[in-house]
Amino acid sequence: MALRPIKNCFDPVLRKQCEIVKNIDGELITLSDDMIETTLAAPGVGLAANQIGIPKRIFVVNMGVDTDKDNLVTLINPEITAMEGSELGEEGCLSIPDVVAEVKRATQVEIKAVDLNGKDVRYEASGFLARALQHEMDHLNGILFWDSLGKIKRDILKRKFKKKLKEQDE
Ligand SMILES: [Zn+2]
Repeated sequence: MALRPIKNCFDPVLRKQCEIVKNIDGELITLSDDMIETTLAAPGVGLAANQIGIPKRIFVVNMGVDTDKDNLVTLINPEITAMEGSELGEEGCLSIPDVVAEVKRATQVEIKAVDLNGKDVRYEASGFLARALQHEMDHLNGILFWDSLGKIKRDILKRKFKKKLKEQDE
């Protein structure tokens, strides 16, 4: 396993419509292991493959986020099959570190995917986990959490993040 550098939100790979995974081979399993390690080290709740520069439909998410036990699960070719409710909640992203905003999300989701053994899996989630699943799902479609905010709010956050990047360079 290896840590992989996380791309920031200005990298074009974060805007990619990610490709369907056709083969679950050794390379994909290594990718999944590395994504899990990178998420735990960040630390983060989830990570999509394009955040480390691989535009494929795979993400990892900590299913134990609402408990005190980590449970990182890899979802391949995921699809949200049902959504219910709506709530505002604070959200951040490993590709936009230290920037948070209130984002509207469904309160409950049902998601289907394929696991690393090629088996169909289905999960129901609510609360913060439901939010995380919607957030990671958006990454696979080239969407960032601030896209749903108004332009003014988004520009303020972008400026804040650019300033931070500049400070790091100095
Ligand atoms: Zn993110």
